[in-house]
Amino acid sequence: MLRAAMVFMIVAGIFGLPAVMCSGCMSECGRGMGMDKLDHEGQSLIDFLYMVSLIASFGSIIMGALVTKLKKITSGSACFIFAICFAFLLVQGNFFGLFSSILLVIAGVMIFVAPSEQFVSAPSKSGTNVEVVENKITTGYKFCTECGSKIEVNSKFCTSCGEQIE
Ligand SMILES: [Zn+2]
Repeated sequence: MLRAAMVFMIVAGIFGLPAVMCSGCMSECGRGMGMDKLDHEGQSLIDFLYMVSLIASFGSIIMGALVTKLKKITSGSACFIFAICFAFLLVQGNFFGLFSSILLVIAGVMIFVAPSEQFVSAPSKSGTNVEVVENKITTGYKFCTECGSKIEVNSKFCTSCGEQIE
């Protein structure tokens, strides 16, 4: 589940890049055409959207890569925030952003419904517990030097052949 969300976020970030380019291009075009086509406010809005999409694009790639290292609420909220950033690109008729926005919403939902044990250090903790249990089992037994039977570490004689164990 979390792996899928991670992939979705990275894909959204990668697909977001053309949207960023498109925004950047529009920004440049706006400047080239001068003030007769776009007023000053329009130009600064486009510049702002370009910055926002750039941050959202790289942000979702980075957050996607770190999704299991971060808290559920952090990565989940980041997903929705980036999704909103990409959705803003639609204001300027940039439909590249729509795809990334949808992917990020799906990833965000996946992160929120994923079990909390998949986050932060929970899986490694249970891993060490298993190791401890295994150590107890292996130190609780030894093997008979005569017949090789598995016997308890504190027993004096082999339960299988009766050989004395030192
Ligand atoms: Zn024995």
